[in-house]
Amino acid sequence: MAKGKTIKGLGARYGSTLRKRYTNVYRVQKAKKECPSCSSMKLKRVASGIWRCGACGHTLAGGAYDVSSASTR
Ligand SMILES: [Zn+2]
Repeated sequence: MAKGKTIKGLGARYGSTLRKRYTNVYRVQKAKKECPSCSSMKLKRVASGIWRCGACGHTLAGGAYDVSSASTR
């Protein structure tokens, strides 16, 4: 699906900075997260700031794009 480091789909109008940021966010969203409840890597972002574990169903609030960003910022 994704070729190279950037992801096509936004066109050129937003400039490279925003596109890089979008690419980073996209990759973070797709990355697997470790569930703090059962330690499986099934944690998925289901909405902005909401993460849910596919294994145990544990739901938690986190950063909009990264589950750990809420505590680090
Ligand atoms: Zn879990």
